[in-house]
Amino acid sequence: MVNTGAMPDPHYRNINAEMIPVVYDPAILYKISSREPQLAHCQKCNKYVQTTVKYEIGTGTLISSTCMALFGALACAWIPCCINDLKDAVHYCPVCKGMVGKKKFIVN
Ligand SMILES: [Zn+2]
Repeated sequence: MVNTGAMPDPHYRNINAEMIPVVYDPAILYKISSREPQLAHCQKCNKYVQTTVKYEIGTGTLISSTCMALFGALACAWIPCCINDLKDAVHYCPVCKGMVGKKKFIVN
């Protein structure tokens, strides 16, 4: 098959493509994005660490409790305070024990 120039040959389409360097930004790579321990950059001790996670009562937990109370389950309004999935996940550095970041339950 002869390439007439109307349609570029798909096998050679990228042969003259401009080489664009790929920049890996540590701020994006190690951004706190999980509720589980993850790799992150600690700004306090300037190291890349596997974080430890503690679950703390946050705004989302209180909203859940309030909703349960408003919809008739006043006696069960304390339950969200005992469920880790309804709390904020706070990431700590295992080296310096400083807070690295937070993944909130509802609003982040
Ligand atoms: Zn640290």
